[in-house]
Formats: sequence, C-alpha cells, structure tokens
Amino acid sequence: MPGTNLTREEARTRAALLHVESYDIELDLGSARDGGTFRSTTVVRFSAATPGDSTFIDLVAPSVAEIVLNGEPLDPAHFADSRIALPGLLADNELRVVADCAYTNTGEGLHRFVDPVDGETYLYTQFEVPDARRVFANFEQPDLKAAFRFTVTVPAGWVVVSNSPTPEPSGEGDTRVWAFEPTPRMSTYITALVAGPYVGVFDEYTAGAQRVPLGVYCRPSLREFLDADAVFAVTKQGFDYFQEKFDFAYPFAKYDQLFVPEFNAGAMENAGAVTLRDQYVFRSKVTDASYEMRAATILHELAHMWFGDLVTMEWWNDLWLNESFATFAEAVCQAEAPGSKWPHSWTTFANQMKTWAYRQDQLPSTHPIMAEINDLEDVQVNFDGITYAKGASVLKQLVAYVGQDAFFQGVQAYFKRHAWGNTTLPDLLGALEEASGRDLKTWSKAWLETAGINVLRPELHLDGNGDIESFTVLQEAPALPAGARGEAVLRPHRIAVGLYDLVDGALVRTDRIELDVDGPRTEVPELVGRHRPAVLLLNDDDLSYAKVRLDEDSLAVVTEHLGAFTDSLPRALCWSSAWDMTRDGELATRDYLSLALSGLQGESDIGVVQSVQRQTKLALEMYADPAWREEGLQRWAAAAEEQLRAAAPGSDHQLAWARTLAAAARTDGQLGLLAGLLDGSEVVEGLAVDTDLRWTLLARLVATGRADDKAVNAELARDSTSSGQEHAASCRAARPTAAAKAEAWESVVESDTLTNYVQEAVIGGFQQADQRELLAPYAAKYFAAVKGIWETRSHEISQQIIVGLYPAYQVEQATVDATDAWLASADPAPALRRQVVEARAGIERALRAQAADRAAGAQG
Ligand SMILES: [Zn+2]
Repeated sequence: MPGTNLTREEARTRAALLHVESYDIELDLGSARDGGTFRSTTVVRFSAATPGDSTFIDLVAPSVAEIVLNGEPLDPAHFADSRIALPGLLADNELRVVADCAYTNTGEGLHRFVDPVDGETYLYTQFEVPDARRVFANFEQPDLKAAFRFTVTVPAGWVVVSNSPTPEPSGEGDTRVWAFEPTPRMSTYITALVAGPYVGVFDEYTAGAQRVPLGVYCRPSLREFLDADAVFAVTKQGFDYFQEKFDFAYPFAKYDQLFVPEFNAGAMENAGAVTLRDQYVFRSKVTDASYEMRAATILHELAHMWFGDLVTMEWWNDLWLNESFATFAEAVCQAEAPGSKWPHSWTTFANQMKTWAYRQDQLPSTHPIMAEINDLEDVQVNFDGITYAKGASVLKQLVAYVGQDAFFQGVQAYFKRHAWGNTTLPDLLGALEEASGRDLKTWSKAWLETAGINVLRPELHLDGNGDIESFTVLQEAPALPAGARGEAVLRPHRIAVGLYDLVDGALVRTDRIELDVDGPRTEVPELVGRHRPAVLLLNDDDLSYAKVRLDEDSLAVVTEHLGAFTDSLPRALCWSSAWDMTRDGELATRDYLSLALSGLQGESDIGVVQSVQRQTKLALEMYADPAWREEGLQRWAAAAEEQLRAAAPGSDHQLAWARTLAAAARTDGQLGLLAGLLDGSEVVEGLAVDTDLRWTLLARLVATGRADDKAVNAELARDSTSSGQEHAASCRAARPTAAAKAEAWESVVESDTLTNYVQEAVIGGFQQADQRELLAPYAAKYFAAVKGIWETRSHEISQQIIVGLYPAYQVEQATVDATDAWLASADPAPALRRQVVEARAGIERALRAQAADRAAGAQG
C-alpha cells in the first residue's frame, strides 16, 4: 500500500509515459465559511507515449463523485489509497475527476482560518511537497509540468489571487466566479490560490519598457501594521539585482506577495503569488534583525521565480540545490544591491545559516548534501540544515572557488538553456564548468557526496622575536557520529587568513591572505618572516564551510577583546567558534557565559546579540553542570536586568535585553519588575511595553506561578486576535501545575482538533526548562504515544509533536536508554526514526557538555 507516498521509481515511470498538456480546475468554495468539504472538478489533458499502458493520478480527498476517462465513466473504486488508477490510455487523453476535497487546519493543502477579530474566513493553499492533490487531482511530481487554468467560486466580497493575473469576478447574488487565464507551464507544487476578504496594496516594478504589477496582501485586522512600502522597496531591489545577474527578465506576468495566517514555513515561492507567514507583518516593535530576516525571505522567494519556478528540479533529490541557491541569492543580493539596508548580510549568514548547518551536520542523521531521496517521506524530513544552510554555505564556497563573475555567467547560460524545463545538478555544474574553465567533478564529489565538517587549525612556530618561522593550516576529516551516512574526507577549501592587531583598543584587520587549502597540511609561506599579529583568523570572510580553531595566543586576545573587532563578520566568526566549542565540550558553559557577559557589551550587531542571548540560555539550561546551573542562571538574569537598564532608550538592544530578562527572571526582584512593567507601575525609559512584549512578560509570570488564569484571560481580552489566542494557549500550558501539564498534553496528544499554530503554542508553553520535575512523567507517555501520532497525523502536525514533546529537558542517561528501548521495539519508519534519533543526540551532547562544565568547575 503506497498510502500517500510516491517513490522516485514510480515518478520516473510516469514521467517516461506521460506528457501533460493542461489542467482546467474548477473549485466551488462558496461554502468556505462553513468548512467541511468543497467540490473540485479537474479536467486534465495529457498524452501517453505507449497507448494501452496504464498509470495513476494523485488525489487526497474524502470522496470522489465522478471519474471519466476519454468519455468513459470509470467505477469510483478506481479511487483508492490516494490514487486514481487510469487503465488503457490512448495516445491523447482527457480525464475528468469530480471530487469532494477537505479544508485543512494544518497548513497543508487548502488551509482554512477564521479571524476572531472580524469573524471572516481566510483561505490559502500550501502545496510543497505533495499537497496540490488535496485540492485537485493531478500528477504530483515536479517534472510533469503543465498549464493550469483555475476557475474559482467564492462568497461575494472576497478576493482571489492565483498565479495568473487577478481577473474581474463575474456573477451576482451570494457568490462570484473568478476565472483566471492559464498559467505558463509549471510544476503542481508552485500553483496557488489565496481567497478571502484580504486587502491589497499595489505598486509596479518598471525597468525600461518592462512593467510588472506588484501586490501585497494581508488580512484587514493586520492592515494597520502592514508597511507595504518597505516590502515593495526590497522587492524592487531584488528585481533589479536578479534581472541583471541572471540576464533574464522576470518570467511571470505579475508578482503578488500575500501575508497569510498560520503558515508553517517562512514563505513559499508559488509562481507570481508568493505566500509569507503573517508574523512578518509586525504588530509590535521588533528589532532590525526581524526586518532583515523578512527582507531576506522576500529576496529568497523572488530568486526562486527563476531558480525553481522557471527552471525546476526533476526530482526532490535536487531540493538542496533549489533551496541553497535561493538562500545564497538572498544574501548576495543584500550584500551588493545598491541601496540595500543590510549590506552586512554575510555576518547574518555566518551567524544563522552556518550555525544551523554546523549543528545539523553533527547529528547522527547527517547526510551528504546530495541525499538519496527515494520517496516523498524522505523529502519531507529533508527540509533541514543540510539542504538549506550547508548547501548555501557550500555554494558560497563554490563562488569563491570559481569566482563570482564566472558563477553568474554559468547561471545565465543555465537559465537560457533550460527555461520552463526541468534539470538535474549536472546541468548547472556543466554550465559553471564552461563559464569558469574549472573541472568541478572532483570538487562536487568532495563537497556534495560526503558528510560532516572539516576542522581547520593553525600550526604556528615563532622565533625569539615573535616573528613567524612557519605557518601551516591543518585540516582534519569530519568526526561523523555513529550511524551517519556518507564518507568523512578532506576537501579543497578556498579560504582567507585575516591578520588583526589591537590599534587604540580596536581589533583592526591589517592584512588578508587568500589561499587554497588542500590535504592535511597546507603551508602558508606568505606569513613567514612577519611579526605575529594579535589575532590570526582562519576562514576570515567566511568563504568556506569548516570548524575553525584559534591558536592559543589568538584565543586569549579574542576572549578578552571579542567586542573590539571593528568589523561584525570576524566577531560573528569568533562567536560561532566559541559556541561550537561549548557544544563540543571544549569550552565550559560557565566560560561561555563569561565570554557572553563581557563580549555582548561591545556587540553592535543586533542579530548576533540575539543569537548569543539564545545560545547562552540554551547552554545554561542544557549544558551547565546541574550543581552549578542555578548560579549561572542567576548571573545571566542579573546581567540581563543590568543591560536592560543600561541600554539606550528605545533601542533594539534594549528590547532584546527586555525579552531576555523576561525569559530569565528568577528572583523576587526580577519577577516583580516584570509584573511592574506589565501593570505600568515600573517604567524603563524608552521601552514600549506593547502587545507582544506584554505576552512575553506574562508568560514568565505564569510559568513561575506569579500570575494565574485570570491574568491570562484579562490579557486575552485586551488582545483578542489569533495571536492573542496562541499566546494565551501557550501561557496556560506553561502553568507550573500537574493539572495544567495534563490538560496541555491531552489537547495535543489525545485530541487532534488544534490548529497547527495553537498546537505549536501549547507545546512551546508545555516545555519549560524550570519545570523538569513536573515534566518527568511525560517521558514514558511520549514513547507510548509517538508511533501512533506519526501514523495518524499529517506530516506538519506529527513533526511538531515528535520533535516538540520529546523529553529534551530530562538530560539523563535514562532518557537515552528509554529512547534506545523504544527504537529497538517500535521499529519506526525511517522518517520517524530520524526525528527521534536527532532528539536523542541532543541529550547525549548535553550529557557530554555537562561533564565538561563539571570538570571546569572542579578545576576552577
Ligand atoms: Zn526556498
């Protein structure tokens, strides 16, 4: 039984047999306000290479009313197991399928949301990876492209947006019909519909004679917060930059961006109709890091219009290339586009993408960037730090290796050659080889077909005057966790070495050398005879993907003067190195805390500040010796209060420290300050205690037993939006009582009615580091329930539960043992096994780091 799965082999067979011309899709969403099901009618025209053969079309639906193939009705029994069997094909075929499909509340397929502010219903589709089949019958694989014509009936007063330009609706009475023009040939997973009383703001991108209509949409309840001008500004920078670099005009007729509710991912690159999570419409003050991330997301999706939508991977094994390219493109555009507000994007890339990649690449589930993707279940758990972040890091390394000009020349040839088609990795590498003249086969094998992170270390010999006698870059093979797939090899690295000296208290780069590292030892003759600088930084500018260690003298300078680097990128690299060492047990948590407390004072990059704040909290909760943990937490909370009071009024740093204090507060004084800020009896000059900060303050007060249900209800009365409901659900799950935990658990595990967002909020509130004892009984309950969850819930919903409810705060050997016992007895499917094995690795790492911290405590 395939269930909802589809194997690569099946997809290959079907692609060899079929050529799909077009889909005519009629959806009757007239009763969307009531929910339930909707009528979906699909007429698909396709040809078969070998008439007489049979195939199947995909559909996930409660029921099918009619199947007609080439004028002959087929017995509805042909619909089984999420497929409709299609026997006896002709050379040219017409299939008509009438089905009743279901609205969802999981963010997959056609998501239905009711806004508590206006009581109105809002719909949007999310189809990647295989969920277009939840809305209409189709051949659900990326290489069977076709033209799609949508005709949609909705309640009067609604707007409908799709891939093709928005038409004038027709009809009268309670409903209207929106008939869209056919799309260009595209894959099923990037088709889209957004429908409801959304409001739009419009603009236009112009370049010479080119005119591209632009739209930005959100729910009316968010309209007052929608800064459409800022969205348009970044979008236009992206159009300018990508059109020039890709030498290919934007391929679709218009470009709409729709902020939609309860969206699982950051955004989705539907052709000409990008959907984005509507937390990106900021209703409270956020730091500049949030604006930067939103801009990056906007550029990422825009880059996909060419890379992904115009030229599409043949199968999901090249998902990494699709995502890595868009992730690289967002960063390079921000770094280089004229007028960019975030030219330091490579700092953010180092700080976020690299950190994500390094973490993922050290899990037992790590895998080569080119992963085996045998079926849809494989790909659904592969939207991971390897696919997005390591892939993008390696792409950055490839650009350093072939040179940026040659890289974009190759990309230009690739778009021209494969426009509207499907490709595999060799198509891109071939174009890059032609443009650069470099052989990429060895490079590709070393970087794409292997797993893990190389370690680069300096080996330094000085003479009596402190001059360098020899300088060697040592490369170590990755230490792959047991069970990891892929070979651990040395790789070619194009890197820079930065030389930094202290000048008037600032760490300034005085020179930079770029070189190729290959093999276990690479001599650097350029440095011989020079006086040793204060800091020698390997992989400066972050060109390559490697763990970097500092020599002892450089480490001492950095530990004392981390904040003194004048550039943000070397600071981010040193922060990253320190964090990596902490995770590896090479730096004790108490020493990382000391570094954070001193280094953050000089850290101006707000994104880095917020990362270090999160990492410090995580280290204290997970990696600290339990005997010392409380002391560490108290030092951290005290520092947060001090920094909050010292920060410039109204600054991003002030807000970041306020949130940090809200999460860390433990003494009566600190909790009293939170309560005072909430009721207005305490004021920190310049700090706006707005809607979201109020919830953050209240959440801590509830979790520590300082505020009760009544306070939560009162806050919900002030903020009776969907966000308010989510915050309230999270707060209730955070209450420090056995009854509250049982209630939260029941609502997620034993019932399946929560929407994706409310469920996520409940899980977030349930898991509290300070409530280890209350949570302890749920370890056994987790293992009893998890397999059933995997088997009965949708992909997104089950993943939230499997990852989110794992007993992560029970850092004990017993948790590892219980996990092993479950793995041995439950015989989980590979995708489920992978998620649990990753969670188990977190416990093992925490146990090792705690031992390192304990040892440091014993010495100190
Ligand atoms: Zn993407």
